[in-house]
Amino acid sequence: KELTEQYTGNPDIQVEFGPEIAHTSVKKSGCHGFCEMGPLIRIEPFNYLYIQVHLEDCDEIFEKTVLRGEPVERLMYHQDGNVYRTQEEIPFYSKQTRLVLKNCGHIDAEHISEAVANGAYQAFETALFEIPPEEVIRIISDSKLRGRGGAGFPTGRKWSQVASQPEKIRYVVCNGDEGDPGAFMDRSVMEGDPHRLIEGMLIAAYAVGAEEGYIYVRAEYPLAVERLRIAIRQAEEIGLLGDRILGTDFSFHLHINRGAGAFVCGEGSALTASIEGKRGMPRVKPPRTVEKGLWGKPTVLNNVETYANVPMIIHNGAAWYRSIGTPDSPGTKAFALTGNVKNTGLIEVPMGITLRDIIFNVGGGIKDGKAFKAVQIGGPSGSCLVEDQLDSRMDFDSLKKIGAMIGSGGLVVMDENTCMVEVARFFMDFTQRESCGKCVPCREGTKRMLEIMERIVNGEGTLSDLDELEELADMIENTALCGLGKGAPKPVISALNGFREEFEEHILQKK
Ligand code: SF4
Repeated sequence: KELTEQYTGNPDIQVEFGPEIAHTSVKKSGCHGFCEMGPLIRIEPFNYLYIQVHLEDCDEIFEKTVLRGEPVERLMYHQDGNVYRTQEEIPFYSKQTRLVLKNCGHIDAEHISEAVANGAYQAFETALFEIPPEEVIRIISDSKLRGRGGAGFPTGRKWSQVASQPEKIRYVVCNGDEGDPGAFMDRSVMEGDPHRLIEGMLIAAYAVGAEEGYIYVRAEYPLAVERLRIAIRQAEEIGLLGDRILGTDFSFHLHINRGAGAFVCGEGSALTASIEGKRGMPRVKPPRTVEKGLWGKPTVLNNVETYANVPMIIHNGAAWYRSIGTPDSPGTKAFALTGNVKNTGLIEVPMGITLRDIIFNVGGGIKDGKAFKAVQIGGPSGSCLVEDQLDSRMDFDSLKKIGAMIGSGGLVVMDENTCMVEVARFFMDFTQRESCGKCVPCREGTKRMLEIMERIVNGEGTLSDLDELEELADMIENTALCGLGKGAPKPVISALNGFREEFEEHILQKK
């Protein structure tokens, strides 16, 4: 009765509830991933997921669900006449394999006790006390984990290259500078489950013998920075970071470095330069980051999602990890599914799934009954894929065969009304602005390509502009210094390959 009065302000409400009500609490979680339906409330232990909740709905949720365990059906997800009561039943979730994102939306990221109760730091503890460092690297190599930042480089090989350097001062760095338009996978992990990332970095540091690490986070992610700060402080307080961790000789100090919003700082050498306080610009390689990275020392540089995979590989073994996904791209991949798809949001699916499955099963198909036109994959250095490429497998090697790449995991779906010429212009505008200007092909080439794209969009282009676009693209791809430049022409060229008639229409209509 006291609780009823406290929460409803009305002592006369007749309610029945069990002793568990005394333990009811409201928690702020990280992102649930189902962006299209937010704000979301998950009620445990029933696992009800309420969607598009407004402040006015809270009294009803409290009175019916919290006090009596009854569902509020009008706030539940409906599809084809069915009501989906639990989060796990909703097709958007049931068709996913959420491993890296398992805790996102389920735990309060600001309390280490919640992460620990869900298994955090067990894998690190096992590694620290039971597995020699070289064996940890062998497990990661055997798992065939590949970097989730875009290139898909084998993580175990990278770690072993750092571990074999004669220089004994080594660093472990995390790239959390997720700059692709429409991508927010790493942000969700940093905001929703920061201890998973810290644990992955701890295991990497133990494996390669590093005593210091940095997480490079975009300044545009203030909540991620805040939650990482809290998580690091809490891990320090209980002896999981700092000197003589858990009473051993192993020490690891972890710092946060806020990036200032330059897309190019996602490139390894630009990122380490930025941490050193220099202007973030890529440099010529070799030497590679594994030999001379941060402060000129051997450095393990992986992105957030890559580190987030590490604890479960140590915990469950390499064979378990290889049983998910494809033989050469095991595990899962998180994607930010956006654009003209019914269920936009953050998803995690096994490697090897088709684009068609992602868009039409997980994503629920194209919005408003429109037809699919294209999907942009791989961010501003990625490609536009068309209908007859939808059965391509989403793994590093299959996509490479069709001239595309997973990138960090942005997927922008476009419907029949989308102007592909405008999309190509948008991406060229983005990369041209983000070009650091160090090398001529990228600095000047992207400017010229953008000028041509603007001419075409404004109805002032000529058919010879299309040949010039192709020539410029070829030159930039083959001569630019870093991945930003090399990939910059891809959105334009893939749109031109798939929708040449649209470019021609823009040109011919003005005549
Ligand atoms: Fe800078 Fe572009 Fe050259 Fe990369 S390719 S170094 S972003 S100018």
